[in-house]
Amino acid sequence: KGINFDNFDKIPVEVTGQDAPSRINSFDEAGLYDAFLKNVRKAGFEKPTPVQKFSIPIIMAGRDLMACAQTGSGKTAAFLLPVLTGMMKSGLSSSQFSTVQEPQALVVAPTRELALQIFMDARKFAHGTMLRSVVVYGGTSVGYQMRQLEQGTHILVGTPGRLLDVLGKQKVSLEKIKYLILDEADRMLDMGFGPEVRKIVEDFGMPPKNERQTLMFSATFPEEIQKLAAEFLNDYLFLSVGRTGG
Ligand code: ADP
Ligand code: MG
Repeated sequence: KGINFDNFDKIPVEVTGQDAPSRINSFDEAGLYDAFLKNVRKAGFEKPTPVQKFSIPIIMAGRDLMACAQTGSGKTAAFLLPVLTGMMKSGLSSSQFSTVQEPQALVVAPTRELALQIFMDARKFAHGTMLRSVVVYGGTSVGYQMRQLEQGTHILVGTPGRLLDVLGKQKVSLEKIKYLILDEADRMLDMGFGPEVRKIVEDFGMPPKNERQTLMFSATFPEEIQKLAAEFLNDYLFLSVGRTGG
């Protein structure tokens, strides 16, 4: 649904940076964790979109990534599938009874709708595994979200303001973060969340950029995004799919 594959072969794709791994042409050759591959099929995904063909092997290779691609190009699965695979391969900690949760992946998104969509996709792909996702966003009481968190959190998805509120309660530590994902980074900056995002990355013990894997997604690549990329990414590959302004 929603994806038009007809024109995909004509879309220009550009990868810039050292030692880029080659693209995949099917989900089977991606090396994804078996349960996720099954869930991808169940979701009706038959073949990867261009951003998925390039992003999945780049992320599986452990590289940082700045990816520019239009809305509707399949960016969510492009980062979730390799990140979830990496988490399963390195082993999930049993976090259910810990007083302080230590998620291994943090996804920051600009709006409640986007955060929820990412959370629901993560839940769909992780179906049948022990991997637990939790989403937090504003405009609703924090109590329910805190209880969800306390029941075990491997991947935390949220909007910047609510993430700061939650982190302030000291029930979640970012010290074990292996994957930091900033989705729709241009929108995040347009909405004025730059300071919040920087605070999340810098003030809560998240490992430095050479000790985590950072993935940034954006529809456009204006100067402020280039600045943020230089700040947060380490030896990254730049992927541009289709015509992206900036
Ligand atoms: P973006 O984040 O780039 O805006 P999404 O990840 O939200 O795009 O994907 C847009 C829509 O396409 C979603 O409904 C998603 O389920 C669907 N989709 C993503 N990848 C594929 C695929 N490989 N095959 C079929 N549908 C896909
Ligand atoms: Mg998206």
